[in-house]
Amino acid sequence: MEKIAYEILEREEPVVLAENLGFGKYFTDHIFVMDYSPAKGWHDAKIMPLRNLSLHPATTFIHYGQTIFEGLKAYYGENGDILLFRPEKNYQRLNNSARRLCMPEVDIDFMVEATKELVRIDKDWVPRNNSDTLYVRPFMVGSDPFLGVRPSADYKMFVMLSPVGAYYPEGFKPVKILIQDDYVRAVRKGLGECKTAANYAASMLGAEIARKQGYTQVLWLDAVELKYIEEVGTMNIFIQIGDEVITPKLTGGILPGITRLSVIDILRDWGMTVTERQISIDEFMAEYDKGNVKEVFGSGTAAVISSVGELKYKDRTLQVSGGEIGPLAQKLFDHLTAIQRGKVEDKFGWTLKVEIPVNA
Ligand SMILES: *Cc1c(COP(=O)(O)O)cnc(C)c1O
Repeated sequence: MEKIAYEILEREEPVVLAENLGFGKYFTDHIFVMDYSPAKGWHDAKIMPLRNLSLHPATTFIHYGQTIFEGLKAYYGENGDILLFRPEKNYQRLNNSARRLCMPEVDIDFMVEATKELVRIDKDWVPRNNSDTLYVRPFMVGSDPFLGVRPSADYKMFVMLSPVGAYYPEGFKPVKILIQDDYVRAVRKGLGECKTAANYAASMLGAEIARKQGYTQVLWLDAVELKYIEEVGTMNIFIQIGDEVITPKLTGGILPGITRLSVIDILRDWGMTVTERQISIDEFMAEYDKGNVKEVFGSGTAAVISSVGELKYKDRTLQVSGGEIGPLAQKLFDHLTAIQRGKVEDKFGWTLKVEIPVNA
């Protein structure tokens, strides 16, 4: 595969990170860019200063949404190493999204190396405190200047970096979630299992309605019957009923989260019963009324684990774990972030070290 060309910004002042990073507001100095054409395949990989793109107004993805993305994080580990969490899984999922949207696949090993290289170059942007992280956003777009509806011939692949704080304005506090049945996010056999722009566009109105009612996020039901619990806008969902932890099985309408996968492995390692199955909203309500719903929490790269303190469905408001952070959500958050930051043994081999040369 390709060599990476470099155009490195000579910084005069040291990087100073903002107090309150928020999510996705700040960007590092550099970006990774690579081009695709049918004749050359992927070529011209480079790391260069972040600057605005210049695009023809007819560029495919602007009109028809042929665009896919990923999200992962880089952390400062205990002993000064920078760690990435399961990056190969992100590029595998990017390739799955690519196939569904008729886009070219990338070489996973090369993209992991390119990501490490970009993080290495912008290492001063990796927050050193315990709550902030460097969010890594790979994305690919169809780049033909052409208004006909067909897959683009040419593509561009990017990786950009953004130092971020806690995802939710509440920080690690329980979130309030609206169970939305007026709108749907994505449908199985559609694009539900892809990280692609259309799903987020489809979710915005439902999410805005929820936000206006004081809810942080929406819990979506399946788009075919509006019967089964699917996921939250940017998180997969887990429900603890008695001693069983249930997460909706991947039916095609749900994004297969890497945090979800990791949570399932950790819970099983702890000897807990985790079931991937369909759970209907009626079953959930019935168990709630019997007092059996112990905890509800979401999982995703951005928030890692997010405890749900309140749910609203039609005209009922349900409190979960007394509106507080559930003990299991707290334990998972602590354990997962400890693995991500290299503070406990990484027995699953999930973290990948970004070696920093001593003289850098
Ligand atoms: C990214 C995302 C998730 C979480 O996936 P992770 O790999 O755990 O970050 C869940 N749902 C949706 C819709 C997402 O976009």
